[in-house]
Amino acid sequence: MRTPDPLRLLALLLIGGGLFGWALSTDPPATPVCAPSEPSCDLPLEPGSVIGALAPPTLTAADVCTDAGYLCAGLGDADAVRLQRWKGVVGTVVVHVPPPEGLTSGDARALQRAAAQGIRAWNDQPFPILVDLRGDRDPHFTVRWGRNTGTRLGVTRTTWSPSTGLQVDFIELGAYAPGGTNRGADPRQIRLTAAHEMGHALGLPHSDSPRDVMYPTNTATSMSAQDYRSVEVLYDLPDGTSITR
Ligand SMILES: [Zn+2]
Repeated sequence: MRTPDPLRLLALLLIGGGLFGWALSTDPPATPVCAPSEPSCDLPLEPGSVIGALAPPTLTAADVCTDAGYLCAGLGDADAVRLQRWKGVVGTVVVHVPPPEGLTSGDARALQRAAAQGIRAWNDQPFPILVDLRGDRDPHFTVRWGRNTGTRLGVTRTTWSPSTGLQVDFIELGAYAPGGTNRGADPRQIRLTAAHEMGHALGLPHSDSPRDVMYPTNTATSMSAQDYRSVEVLYDLPDGTSITR
């Protein structure tokens, strides 16, 4: 084995120290080196802790909410909100969207296409999304079609635990026009409802602005900058993060 040239070794250490400064330092910094909302923020570890055992942080509205879209909208009614989002997802999210049954094939295909469009509106926010129309992939979850109940056009059922993060059981969309007919629903409403429900499936709360797709009623005509900003901040923060007033 050759003895390394001292200057070369120093240069390597400097480069390595720049890339992996955390590995070389022995004393954890006293304060976070970056704001927790930054995508690549590494919070200092307590001595002896491991990354998998880190409890989700509790942050204040002042830490998070000034530029977080409507992620903190729930703080109007509650003292704290807890972020619940997908964790451990690698690669593409596959969503199966079958055609609704009991409609003409033209109506069924139009609604299937509209739902797919609404779901794809979140493509790369943050996951690449593949909408499977034929059902020949193993999906993360499936969109199912039901009757509209009252004024509700869609619903999303999710479960959450600290170990699994957010998991989606299903999104259900109302396939039929109001009034008990077997006419298909308005494809434009289906597209917006699918986008709204997909936002819930990713973990977003309701917005307090009618211009956002996550407003409780279909008043938006397309995704807004606030919709994208909210999901960006949601996925920048650890799953389970609590935000207090
Ligand atoms: Zn909703």
